[in-house]
Amino acid sequence: MSTVLYEDESHKCVKFDGLIGEGEIPSNQFLITHNRRGLLLDCGGYRVYKEVLGAMSYFLPAGSLDYIFLSHQDPDIGSGLNLWLPICKAKIMISGLWQRFIPAFCVRGLANERLFAIPDRGVNFELNGSPLMAVAAHFLHSPGNFHLYDPVAKILFTSDLGASVAPHKEVIETEEDFELHKKKMSGFHNRYIASNVACRSWAAMVRNLDVEMIVPQHGAHIVGKTLVEAFYQWVENEKTAVDDFVESLFQLPETEVVKIT
Ligand code: FE
Repeated sequence: MSTVLYEDESHKCVKFDGLIGEGEIPSNQFLITHNRRGLLLDCGGYRVYKEVLGAMSYFLPAGSLDYIFLSHQDPDIGSGLNLWLPICKAKIMISGLWQRFIPAFCVRGLANERLFAIPDRGVNFELNGSPLMAVAAHFLHSPGNFHLYDPVAKILFTSDLGASVAPHKEVIETEEDFELHKKKMSGFHNRYIASNVACRSWAAMVRNLDVEMIVPQHGAHIVGKTLVEAFYQWVENEKTAVDDFVESLFQLPETEVVKIT
């Protein structure tokens, strides 16, 4: 399904969801266009390539992509690159920490000269003249993680931060919905987000941005300034693995030998 998150005469942000490859976690892919040039955010895995390409072609031909932006290194984020790179000339943007790992997704030579390593502090760049910002989100959850801020749409794309699996609604617009939605976000957050120190540093930083919408890579998005601030407060206070229960994860396995079939 395609949902237009923002639209004006020259600028558009589109969410593609429900494009689940067999055996894959449900994830969202995004397209930002500005005057007929585009950025594909978290292009997705091998198995959703055809569906994402089909959904995207309604808005923009693949040959008009200037960037494929990967928020981090996970397979559901960018393992489909091997199929995307031959059909466009887009540059791949990813954390400098992961730049040298990306060729592992591709046949030999395909990613050569096409990688842009985002520095730890993030970077301001332009899509056909329209400003965009790669925003530091390290350890939320990957050690080299970036969010993407679109100041025209006032959208902060938050990668795995705020991820929800099986949300009760696709769009969270009221405080009642947000209360329910917290339960849908907490399971993922408690286990996959590494550190509350990182969470609080992130929230302090992004409060300097003008944000109307929080759009994660899994599940529902959150709309409106009041709920954006509620989300920041939730992120600051919610438990994370390292702060809460990391010691309990370090136990040798049960003595019983498991038969793997
Ligand atoms: Fe991830």
